[in-house]
Amino acid sequence: MTETGRAAVYYGLGKPMEIEEYPVPEPEPGAIVVRLTVANICGSDLHMWRGDMDIGQWGAPLPLIIGHEMTGRVHSIGSGITTDSAGQPLAEGDRVVYRYFYPCGRCPVCLKGDDAMCQMNNFFMMGVTDPPHFNGAYADYYYLRPGHTVFKVPDELTDEMVAPINCALSEVLYGLEKIGLQFGDTIVIQGAGGLGVYATGVAKSMGARNVIVIDGIDDRLELARAFGADQIIDMKEYKTPQERAARVMELNGGYGVDVVAELVGFPSAIVEGMEFLAPGGRLMEIGNISPGHTFEYDPALMIMGSKSIIPIGYYKAESLKRALDFMLNTKDKYPYDKILSKVYPLEDIEKAFQEQDKGLVSRAAIALD
Ligand SMILES: [Zn+2]
Ligand SMILES: [Zn+2]
Repeated sequence: MTETGRAAVYYGLGKPMEIEEYPVPEPEPGAIVVRLTVANICGSDLHMWRGDMDIGQWGAPLPLIIGHEMTGRVHSIGSGITTDSAGQPLAEGDRVVYRYFYPCGRCPVCLKGDDAMCQMNNFFMMGVTDPPHFNGAYADYYYLRPGHTVFKVPDELTDEMVAPINCALSEVLYGLEKIGLQFGDTIVIQGAGGLGVYATGVAKSMGARNVIVIDGIDDRLELARAFGADQIIDMKEYKTPQERAARVMELNGGYGVDVVAELVGFPSAIVEGMEFLAPGGRLMEIGNISPGHTFEYDPALMIMGSKSIIPIGYYKAESLKRALDFMLNTKDKYPYDKILSKVYPLEDIEKAFQEQDKGLVSRAAIALD
């Protein structure tokens, strides 16, 4: 009998995901089939589910499996793969994390050495109908295609700790380096969801001297503190952009900050964040991934203040390796086990999305094994 696995299948905007069974594929040469253990809901998944981002309209082949943050064990390995991307022997049963995207390696930006900007990147929005079926995180299996980046997970890190590493942690780690956060810099982090909390820990470890985190939910602000935030700004208390800008200056010795990390996902947060910056400051833009939303800004203010916006879409293969190393080195310092705040079975995936959408959970985990 053919082995099968479950998948929560997305049929398009406003339609609930359906749990369906598909045959588990055989890996082609260079591919790996992963038996997933934990997947979780990232802000961008929420954008798709909510309909801020109509992936069907973009031409994504519906139906498909969404979700991109996940971890699991090697189920079967295609010929030609004997090690992970760091050269460590890789065998069936090993716990792994991997990039959920596949830069082409052959376009001008890949040739320049930073494949995080590859536009030919074969992203995850592949249909579920044709083999290998398992192209997204909300399923029992994931088909890691040839040309992947994969790393073995150290025993000291749990599945729940590493599930968000292939997006949230790697992204902020790559981003804060790319934006040039330096020892002694000051930074405002807008949004204390998973990315904001990780960014707090990474920025502190990179030597930031004043990390100010803005959010309006108590649990998130508390977690930001546990990850090393020096100051917090509670949006329940500082309700307008003007009040928050004044508070940032107050908490930063009367000056703007060197770096702002926009991890909220509203265009207005960019405009607000630019106000926080000192001359020469840089805004790291990660949150606004849904096309069709705009903001108004006077470019003369950028020029006069020598302020810049640097967007970060993906990350390099080595960022994921370093994110794993970083988590291992700081596992006793930061409460990584608190990032995924509630666990749901796959059957309850719609409930998980609903509760995360309402802010009842900050990052929901889907247990798959
Ligand atoms: Zn993500
Ligand atoms: Zn490329």
